[in-house]
Amino acid sequence: MQAGDTSPILLWFRRDFRLSDHPALAEAARQGRPVIPVCILDEVVEGYGAAPKWRWGEAVAHFSKTLQALGSRLILRRGRALGVLQQLVQETGAGDVWWTRAYDPDAIARDTDVKSTLQGSDIVARSFPGLVLFEPWTVTTKAGGFFKVYSPMWRAVRGTDVPVPDPAPRSLMSPANWPVSDHLDTWALGAAMNRGAGVLAQFACVGEGRAHDRLTTFLAARVDDYAKNRDFPSMDATSRLSENLAWGEIGPRTIWHAGQRVLQEGRQGAEKFLKELVWREFAHHLIYHTPHIVTDNWRPEWDSFPWSEEEDVDVLRWKQGRTGIPLVDAAMRELYVTGTMHNRGRMIVGSYLTKHMMTHWRIGQRWFQDCLIDWDPAANAMGWQWVAGSGPDAAPYFRVFNPETQASKFDGDRTYINTFVAELSPQPSPQGLAFYQACPQGWALCPSDLYPNPVVELAEGRRRALDAYAARE
Ligand code: FAD
Repeated sequence: MQAGDTSPILLWFRRDFRLSDHPALAEAARQGRPVIPVCILDEVVEGYGAAPKWRWGEAVAHFSKTLQALGSRLILRRGRALGVLQQLVQETGAGDVWWTRAYDPDAIARDTDVKSTLQGSDIVARSFPGLVLFEPWTVTTKAGGFFKVYSPMWRAVRGTDVPVPDPAPRSLMSPANWPVSDHLDTWALGAAMNRGAGVLAQFACVGEGRAHDRLTTFLAARVDDYAKNRDFPSMDATSRLSENLAWGEIGPRTIWHAGQRVLQEGRQGAEKFLKELVWREFAHHLIYHTPHIVTDNWRPEWDSFPWSEEEDVDVLRWKQGRTGIPLVDAAMRELYVTGTMHNRGRMIVGSYLTKHMMTHWRIGQRWFQDCLIDWDPAANAMGWQWVAGSGPDAAPYFRVFNPETQASKFDGDRTYINTFVAELSPQPSPQGLAFYQACPQGWALCPSDLYPNPVVELAEGRRRALDAYAARE
């Protein structure tokens, strides 16, 4: 940027749909130059699964209205990011293109290309922090590498200063002429959702205002019992902020500082909550330093493990929540109806798939990527490799979750199972019945179906998995 530059700044929003705690936006607002907010249905977003793509569209729609209320606009364009940005630079005379950094390999490949090409034509291409608390290259072990184990990372960061979040700008300078924008409806972002979008919409909690409400309510009412109750899937005991974090409707610095405040007040559960936020951090640092975590076994010694990669009828039954194991099925249906799944459910269905069913974690990862409205490439990849045993700091393979024991410990009165598995419930709940509206017609399922026998019996599956594990050593 030259001194006295009055050219517009193109501010490219990707998964950071908020006004506060947004370093790039705050800096742009301070420049005294026109700011043109832009959102692109680009090659990376085109690759999203059905539910994330739909939920991304909801975030875009909401954020567009938020910007309008500020007297600004969100310009929507479709196409390869680089070409779209070059075109917009030409149309608007922008001298700068800014965005919030992301660390997954698809985003890095796209952003590196954008940065080097724009800089080659004298445009200032600048990326900002905002997705995580600590940039992945700033947190290192004593030996200078990145953390491959979570606990020492937590100990290293827990006392570190985190910048205080920027407030939302009061206004943004508009350009003399706004470039034309696509209409969001024409992008048909819910097209791949079959019948599901209408059902999911009831459970989504969209936008910055609602994300802040979620945080406030959680810290006021639930944080004290968080450590005690967070593992019970039928309880409303966790923050549910992963959905909003995934689309940047709230920033991690905001959550960190709010969490620290209640920690200082001596509130029980606050430290545990902050620790969970650092698991998210750990995932983003890992995906940056070891991008193969998305596609390959993080530990190559797992490459010869005899996991099946066939999308066979048993895998279909797992996806449908018809494995015949009630807790697994409840969690899989929670996923389909609500677009999220309790963390304990994620561990249990992951363990059943990769261990009892001896199916590759990549199949589970892809299904979650298609169904989760809190889908995050880093947390999803780390979660799956953790469950499967092939990841960093992973659960050992020989730790096979027993869904029956898990059910008696964490769903003793079967509230969760009864809520989501209509066939097993004396009085099917609205969520249990909603599953039949949400799932594709091709599955031909109805609530009067008999509950199936197990795809794999628990004892038999456990023995088979442990035998395969022993044979590998
Ligand atoms: P809270 O308990 O309130 O925790 C606060 C925040 O900490 C969360 O919002 C989240 O950002 C972070 N967090 C908590 N647990 C984890 C964890 N294990 N890993 C990383 N971050 C965590 N999380 C996603 O956000 N997106 C995913 O795609 C995703 N896929 C997963 C897949 C598998 C197989 C597993 C085992 C876990 C996955 N997780 C994923 C992590 C975790 O299940 C969710 O973050 C959690 O259920 C969110 O609920 P919450 O917001 O109420 O969390």
